[in-house]
Amino acid sequence: MNKKLKKKISALHPRFRKEINELFENINHSIDILYETAITDEKTGIYNNKFFETMIEMEIEKVKRGKQKLSLIITDIDFFKKINDKYGHVKADELLYRIAQVIKNQLRKSDILARFGGEEFVILLPETSLNKSRKLSKRLKNAVHQDKILKKHGVTISGGITQFRDKRDSKKQFIKRADRALYKSKKEGRDRFVDLE
Ligand code: GH3
Ligand code: MG
Ligand code: MG
Repeated sequence: MNKKLKKKISALHPRFRKEINELFENINHSIDILYETAITDEKTGIYNNKFFETMIEMEIEKVKRGKQKLSLIITDIDFFKKINDKYGHVKADELLYRIAQVIKNQLRKSDILARFGGEEFVILLPETSLNKSRKLSKRLKNAVHQDKILKKHGVTISGGITQFRDKRDSKKQFIKRADRALYKSKKEGRDRFVDLE
């Protein structure tokens, strides 16, 4: 609320003042809910692709200005079509949700996990080198292996890792490189992470 408006409200009769303040509180609360809904993927509870697009652009701008690192991981569930065929869509959706949560539990608050597409996730890692991202990918793989439900259903994930190169690098190339690394991980046998510098 701006100063001018605050001043006007403070001049009102206390009863009206209370009502107007409550109205503002309700509006703010509704805006918070709308915002959360607008940036969240319904099926997995993590961020949606639109939010990721906004954040990657912001983080690239930051990297271009400073010396900090920025890494990116794209992960894809292995043989998810077969999982759908074997257990049905409802169960597969539950597993999709679970994977998102298992991945999220391994991340820092500042990392951005979003649903990239159907059964693909992106993890944007500000202030994170390629080396640190490799270590994180090992943790992700282990976490998926160790989760009881995912283990029971034979779920594994593959991933591609890369870092933003320099000022001449671009968002398009950055994402493309992570995607190429993911493609390699699938070709090399799945259930693994491959990186491309
Ligand atoms: P790969 O290891 O090569 O990634 O094999 P894949 O079967 O996972 O890959 P493919 O791209 O052939 O198929 C992806 C499957 O993921 C197909 C689609 O039915 C399933 N899928 C995508 N989004 C959803 C979703 O939201 N819910 C469910 N249940 N399945 C989904
Ligand atoms: Mg896929
Ligand atoms: Mg897949």
